[in-house]
Amino acid sequence: MDCSKYKRVMLKLSGEALAGENGYGIDFQVAKNIAKEIKKIVDMGVQVGAVVGGGNIWRGRNGADMDRTTADYMGMLATCINAMALQDSLENLGVNTRVQTAIEMREVAEPFIRRRAMRHLEKNRVVIFAAGTGNPYFSTDTTAALRAAEIEAEVILLAKKVDGVYDKDPHKYNDAKKYKKLNYIEVLDKGLQVMDSTATTLCMDNDIPILVFGLDNPQNIVKAVLGEEIGTLVSKG
Ligand code: UDP
Repeated sequence: MDCSKYKRVMLKLSGEALAGENGYGIDFQVAKNIAKEIKKIVDMGVQVGAVVGGGNIWRGRNGADMDRTTADYMGMLATCINAMALQDSLENLGVNTRVQTAIEMREVAEPFIRRRAMRHLEKNRVVIFAAGTGNPYFSTDTTAALRAAEIEAEVILLAKKVDGVYDKDPHKYNDAKKYKKLNYIEVLDKGLQVMDSTATTLCMDNDIPILVFGLDNPQNIVKAVLGEEIGTLVSKG
């Protein structure tokens, strides 16, 4: 059997990753394809924590005329919808999962309790962390960094629409150059769009490497845990 480079990972999926071509809402075929890849790494013995964004449904900044905190709470609720969709897709494949939310909704999911999350991971259940950090003015990238530190994940697998980190937007510029490796300070200094700066700083302070790769090919999740050279690795260098 293929051997994973990591024992425990934090997988961050943007909300858009679940939207597929539509760019909005949830495409269940796409969710199923992602779930199949997650199942492969679970079957390899990798313990998986996952954070899903909410951008396919709502982002705080969409509510320009709204009270910011209200708009952000709406975004956090959107992540719960996505987490439940991912949970359903995984359970359809026979993968054991738990959703833990940072805002209590006990009828729907468990509240986030770190020790309980650790126990689930040890039992090879995929733990999906929903409702962000539970605080407005944060992002799900910061949630992934925070929960990764809390569960002692060895790496954040940051699955994006773009297949790595570029010096400029590869959709706009043909000569955009992809980085293979970067350190945190370079990301912050160059203002590279990897994660928001709060999330990057949290990873830097806790020495958590971030592997940024494209989800255009869902098999990249398996390649990432096998340590194949894909995407861009952000670390202390
Ligand atoms: N959000 C928040 N606090 C958090 C995490 C998320 O307020 O700890 C809100 C914020 O409004 C954000 C939205 O939830 O825009 C959805 O998350 P995000 O934009 O990170 O999703 P993604 O871009 O990964 O799909």
